[in-house]
Amino acid sequence: MGDKLTKLQEEHMASFAPLSRVVVTGGTHGDELAGVYLVQKGLVKQPEFLHRETFTAQAIVANPEASRKSCRFVDTDLNRCFTFESLSSSTANSSSYEIRRAKELNHLLGPKGSNEAVDFICDLHTTTANMGTCIIVDSEKDYLSCQAAHYLKEVSTHPCRILLMKSGTPTFSMMSLAKHYLRQEFPAFNMDCFQIERKFDYPRDEEGQLTACIHPKLQDSDFKPLFQGDPIFQSFVSEDSICYEAQDPICPIFINEASYYSKGIAFWGTKIQTFEIASIKVSI
Ligand SMILES: [Zn+2]
Repeated sequence: MGDKLTKLQEEHMASFAPLSRVVVTGGTHGDELAGVYLVQKGLVKQPEFLHRETFTAQAIVANPEASRKSCRFVDTDLNRCFTFESLSSSTANSSSYEIRRAKELNHLLGPKGSNEAVDFICDLHTTTANMGTCIIVDSEKDYLSCQAAHYLKEVSTHPCRILLMKSGTPTFSMMSLAKHYLRQEFPAFNMDCFQIERKFDYPRDEEGQLTACIHPKLQDSDFKPLFQGDPIFQSFVSEDSICYEAQDPICPIFINEASYYSKGIAFWGTKIQTFEIASIKVSI
């Protein structure tokens, strides 16, 4: 019985080489100032905050031009430029500042998917939605990121939630440049997270203009369950509310995020899911 249990535990343990390079990035979106200032004014000027005995850590402003202008991006969203397709395109002299910058970062921190890539990137973002502290993980199969998110959630003195991107979608973000490794042993656990199900756009007219805004009862209610019949939009042209129609409740997030108007997103619908995350250790 004991042997069987040990074998089962071993089968559920993933092992990784020790970390050697870690990077903290801010200003991937130039108008999200907490990350810009933390990196630019704090970590770059006071590198002792990042100094560790066993690995190198570096702080980088990901989109310096947009950060200088305090705008989200110059030509296109940098955080969507890290697909393999975009990084390997032959547009070395692309007219898009962000595509050129993504290739620079891939050269500096990648190449994405290679052995030379940095081990871990912590990319700092902020939102205009009422979401508190939220750690975004790309995949429940990335055991290091899940274990790191779980650790931060456990030590956080404020409410802290884990958001899981939809499984199986190609990675496109800044943090996807890195491999994800670590150095000590962490036990297996069940991870409760909010997994993205689908996007909700605003009601629009034939010309694509908004005809309603977020309903006051939904505003600032990120992560709170939304049930059939609950109001989600308030019409501009009448007293009518537009209600959530599906039978399955969802938890909305990024409600009224300012930078998502142009992406056709009023909020994202998520569901609470539990995943079994394997224990991890350093390989010898
Ligand atoms: Zn951002």
